[in-house]
Parts: sequence; C-alpha cells; structure tokens
Amino acid sequence: MTFEELDLDPKLLTAIEEQHYHKPTPIQAEAIPEMLLSKDVLAGAATGTGKTAAFVLPALQFLLDDPRPSRKPRVLILAPTRELAFQIHKVVKQLGTHCPFESNVVTGGFASDKQLEILQSNMDILVATPGRLLNIMSKEFIDLSDIELLIIDEADRMLDMGQGPDVLALIEAIPGDFQAACFSATLAGSGITKFAEEVLDSPEVIQV
Ligand code: AMP
Repeated sequence: MTFEELDLDPKLLTAIEEQHYHKPTPIQAEAIPEMLLSKDVLAGAATGTGKTAAFVLPALQFLLDDPRPSRKPRVLILAPTRELAFQIHKVVKQLGTHCPFESNVVTGGFASDKQLEILQSNMDILVATPGRLLNIMSKEFIDLSDIELLIIDEADRMLDMGQGPDVLALIEAIPGDFQAACFSATLAGSGITKFAEEVLDSPEVIQV
C-alpha cells in the first residue's frame, strides 16, 4: 500500500513526502479509506503508530473535496491534554502546509481572553481540549454549528480523566449530522464501548 493508492490530493502527497513518510502505517492504511468513505470509525491505535496522521490526512482531504468559505470550524479534533492538542495541531500544520486552510488550538492553561481572541478569526479546523472548549462555548464565543467532522483522540484517556460528560455536552451543541471518528489506545472495557455507542453511528471498527 502506498499513499498514492489512498487517493489523497497531490497537496497532501507533497506534504507527506516532505515529512519523509514513505508508506502508510497499518492504522493509516486502514483508517484513511474508511474515513474518506464518510464512515464513522472506532480505531484502536496507541501512540507511536502514526494515528495522528491517520485522522489528520482524511480531515484535510475532506475539506479539499468540498471547499466552502466558512468562518466557523468544520472539523473539530478533541484531545484530553494541552500537550496532545498542540502536538495534533503541529501535525495539522505540517500536513496541511500546502492547503489553504486555517486552524487553531484552544486548551486550558492559557489566559481565556487570549484564546477568545484566537476564536474571532476564520478557521476550518479547531483542535481543543473538551473542558476549555465547553467553557468558551457556554460564553457564546464559539459556534459549533458548522462542524461536519468530529475526531476524538485518546478517548480512553479522556474517559479516565472524567472528560466524557464534557464531550457529550459538546456533541449536543452540534446541530446537524456529522461524521465522527474515535481513536483510543485500547478498545477493551465497557467505558469505551458505551462512549463509542453514544458518539458514533454504526462505526467501522479498526484495531491495529
Ligand atoms: P503518532 O502515533 O501519531 O504519535 O506518530 C508517531 C510518529 O510517527 C510521529 O513522529 C510521526 O511523525 C511518525 N509517522 C507518522 N506516520 C508515518 C509514516 N507513514 N511513516 C513514517 N513515520 C510516520
């Protein structure tokens, strides 16, 4: 399997080459085609497997396939910690370097007013931690009504940290239909199964 065979845009293939990724990792080879078919996905993949690019590439391709002048984010990526959110945002910037998209990151641990300022700008992709995003949303500083693709990274860690209810509250605020993907180091345990049932619609289950 090659990245070319995954039907990715030349803009993404160039960025992939610049990152010196020679071929898709197993999670990328399995998750990218399902996500490009607009399916919900539940993926068991640990850190170090290339899971970030496995959801960032289809997210960028999704926007390239259907460009729209939106002021509001169309892709939302949730992560349990500030560090992970910034790491994901870095990959969004690297792989999206030849794409005309704007992205931002909001997390706890920074002055709220600075982050509210960030959210006044146009953006296509928002990376966030659930608690801070919910807090910002309750002050009506962010509108999630244009979200078409939701990605939840490290869902198991999120549940361990007690962020499940915040994620469900954020989902409540997305009015229309949206595609969703949930990545988790482990798919074992009733917590993640129940969470996935609430968040995903007949997902393709992928385990690497
Ligand atoms: P992740 O599991 O997303 O944290 O990625 C782990 C590491 O693998 C990161 O340093 C990535 O830059 C790298 N990586 C991701 N995809 C590939 C690939 N297809 N080939 C080589 N390295 C990759």
